[in-house]
Amino acid sequence: MTGKRKNRCSFCGRSEDEVALLMSGLNGHICDECVRQAEKIVNENMGSEVRLKKGGPGFDMKGLPKPRDIKAFLDQYVIGQDSAKQYLSVAVYNHYKRLAQPEDDGVEIEKSNIIMVGPTGTGKTLLARTIAKLLKVPFTIVDATIFTEAGYVGEDVESILTRLLQVADYDVTATERGIVFIDEIDKIARKQDNPSITRDVSGEGVQQGLLKLLEGSIVNVPPKGGRKHPDQEYIHVDTRNILFICGGAFDGIERKIAQRLNTHVVGYDSVQNQQRIDSKNLMKYIVPQDLKSFGLIPEIIGRLPVLTYLNPLDRDALRRILTEPKNSLVRQQVKLFAMDGIKLVFEEEALDYIVDKAVEYKLGARGLRSIMESIMIEAQYNAPSEHEKELTITRQYAEEQIKKNEEMKK
Ligand code: ADP
Repeated sequence: MTGKRKNRCSFCGRSEDEVALLMSGLNGHICDECVRQAEKIVNENMGSEVRLKKGGPGFDMKGLPKPRDIKAFLDQYVIGQDSAKQYLSVAVYNHYKRLAQPEDDGVEIEKSNIIMVGPTGTGKTLLARTIAKLLKVPFTIVDATIFTEAGYVGEDVESILTRLLQVADYDVTATERGIVFIDEIDKIARKQDNPSITRDVSGEGVQQGLLKLLEGSIVNVPPKGGRKHPDQEYIHVDTRNILFICGGAFDGIERKIAQRLNTHVVGYDSVQNQQRIDSKNLMKYIVPQDLKSFGLIPEIIGRLPVLTYLNPLDRDALRRILTEPKNSLVRQQVKLFAMDGIKLVFEEEALDYIVDKAVEYKLGARGLRSIMESIMIEAQYNAPSEHEKELTITRQYAEEQIKKNEEMKK
């Protein structure tokens, strides 16, 4: 004891005898009355945002976007992929509903984690990032490949939650309502080609670890992640309400789909079935069984009940991606030049040419960016120092720039 001086609330000045509870901080104290006052002020000033983030009894659904609103928002940034957009919008909306559901009526809305399958560069990560802009709960994106060698040089599966905690400023209640996007989930699949004896144990091990998170359990999370801080204290995070969205290219899964479809069409309605199958677009026939054939363990598949797919991007989609999204490549270039007072215009034929090249390079939408950059680099270098106030990119100009670039790389 340090003498008889009474502790006082640093805000209202009342002594510990005069209040129900006095809490101590580093350099002062606060009483229960002042805490209540402070909470009121915070809520009044910051509205529902604070209640959503910090939790509190019940999750307020007022003002939250409905599935159609969520999809309309995604439409501004992501071209096509309607099926995936619809599934995501409903999943996010249901996630909010789960958080807001009354607990006493005996009906519990279960969590519906999602898995999105589709070729690389078709918008899976873009969808996740775009949805994050709109969310009222903590959100993080992690790459499953960092776990492939967990226990050796990789990270532990628990570190997913470390990231979510960081995003939520270490507010555990908010973390427990968050959404996690796990990219490249296909990379932790069991390799099919070398079964039993030499199968890659790490893939299955990671899947088992992930299962623990998906199932909903209390997980001990190292606040700084990794294993480099053995003395750090663990934070207990309940994953029951965390929504997991997984994405992966699942290269070659079409073969598994085709195999399954072929075995099915042996039945008496085979002719009809065969006619109906759109063989160029097998992905849309994907079912959970195909994920199992690919090497995901059944327990994981069971915990990802919502399965949706993304289409490969055709010419038409690539062309639209160039101009239509709110921050399309063309809009970005126009903005860059406008900041130098230059009006930039792309001729339609020049844009067609960029698409031709992207198709030729087989890089999908990812290719558009690098092609655009190599066409624009010279103009970006020279234009700011010149007096021209208008610049038109013609097909011929685009072709010349690409040719120059290709020659330089030879
Ligand atoms: P992945 O499916 O491999 O996660 P990404 O979402 O990372 O692909 O896409 C790579 C880039 O390609 C994105 O940053 C975006 O610019 C562009 N892109 C891909 N798909 C679309 C799409 N459907 N609409 C608009 N842009 C897209």
